[in-house]
Amino acid sequence: MYQHVSKQRKFFNTHATKDLKFRIEQLKKLENILKANENLIYEGIYQDFKKSEFETFISELALIYHDIKDARKNLKTWARVQKVKTNMLNFPSKSFIIPEPLGVCLVIGAWNYPYGLSLAPAVAAISAGNTVILKPSEISSSSSAVMAKLIDENFDPSFFKVIEGGVPETTELLNQKFDKIFFTGSTQVGRIVYQAAAKNLTPVTLELGGKSPAFVTEYCNLKMTVKRLVWAKFLNAGQTCIAPDYIMVHSSIKNEFLEQVKSEIEKERFSFENENYTQIINERNLERLKQILDPQKVYLGGEINTSIKYMQPTVLQDITFDDAVMKEEIFGPILPVISYDSLDEAIREVNRLPKPLSCYVFTNNNKQKKKILKEVSFGNGAINEAVMQYTNSKLPFGGVGQSGMGNYHGEAGFKEFTHYKSILEKPTWLELPFKYYPHTKGKLKMIKQFLKF
Ligand code: NAD
Repeated sequence: MYQHVSKQRKFFNTHATKDLKFRIEQLKKLENILKANENLIYEGIYQDFKKSEFETFISELALIYHDIKDARKNLKTWARVQKVKTNMLNFPSKSFIIPEPLGVCLVIGAWNYPYGLSLAPAVAAISAGNTVILKPSEISSSSSAVMAKLIDENFDPSFFKVIEGGVPETTELLNQKFDKIFFTGSTQVGRIVYQAAAKNLTPVTLELGGKSPAFVTEYCNLKMTVKRLVWAKFLNAGQTCIAPDYIMVHSSIKNEFLEQVKSEIEKERFSFENENYTQIINERNLERLKQILDPQKVYLGGEINTSIKYMQPTVLQDITFDDAVMKEEIFGPILPVISYDSLDEAIREVNRLPKPLSCYVFTNNNKQKKKILKEVSFGNGAINEAVMQYTNSKLPFGGVGQSGMGNYHGEAGFKEFTHYKSILEKPTWLELPFKYYPHTKGKLKMIKQFLKF
């Protein structure tokens, strides 16, 4: 591992990556490689998830292409030296801020969207002028192998290199000194990464998980709410970090909500044979989902077929915060429904859990909307929609508290991989005498008059 990092540091020190033309060319090259190899990418994803080309394109490739296009188009603006005002004390100086790359960056990806969660941070790092070592997840092994092949066959490893592997390889990587670590994964491993980074005071971005609630109030458009929620929850069989984890529904509409969820799921035909429905990544996760499922509370679904790693979309009713399913992030196709009578009480319950990555509010009542947005702290979210906030690159994406720190997408990603170097430049034709010794009472009076304090 050491030689990869040191090669990248050597290359970074040539200052080649500071040239905007170089960055734009590398981004274009990445786009071309992905476009030319889409079939290979679809195959890898299919082996890991049995996911359709359509879903891979909309949930992975389209977002990466968008990020690359956005960065290429806006890089000159993002990377420009910014002039700022200068205070009176420094007259007649000028002040400016130079965005500079951090250096050698480590990007660690999660398995649930193997391309998006690895390459989108890499695109941000490259656009900001860094070199990148990318460690995709060993769990989505086919996708990671394709990614490693495509990157390593086409990029100079002293600029962009994929290192495959699991815990031992990641541990070894974390023992190296990086200038930035960008991690996507669980809160538990996030802690390990944060501790490893502390040894070298390496700045980190942690994109973690959590239990993202969806509030469904009595003032929602129920038909649209159900349609959007069912899509967002069962996309990738619930293996989406920003999927609505559980529903807080007002008791007056609970029964109707459940009935409509049932008919929407039936309409979408998420059957075992259906190409539109993704499988669970591995048997371990399937077993974990089985363990947190209380058969007494199943309203719909619950069927599991281990041999083909499938789990039916499952809806649970009469759930309380004491149920096993409410004790951890679900990360699968189980939708617990909790009913509430008072919005205040519902918010109090949600706020007892760690700050979630996302929160969704389904209501057409402005007062309720504002109340939830004000009283619940979460990373990112949507009103009368779910998951789609992720696709707007103008919205910085990230968590808060246990769901993470830092954010990316669009300019936010560029900033995350950039140091803003502040400079004061003073001409030599004038020097005010105040700061120099001797510090007399007269000088102090003059300073106070000058600064108007
Ligand atoms: P994970 O934490 O198990 O693994 C993430 C990465 O860390 C992998 O590359 C893995 O190889 C590495 N890793 C695992 N154990 C390690 C250890 N002991 N030491 C060093 N490295 C280690 O997470 P996962 O199972 O791949 O992903 C699921 C989690 O990620 C969920 O909690 C989900 O919410 C979260 N997630 C968050 C986002 C986001 O954008 N915030 C996106 C996707 C997933």
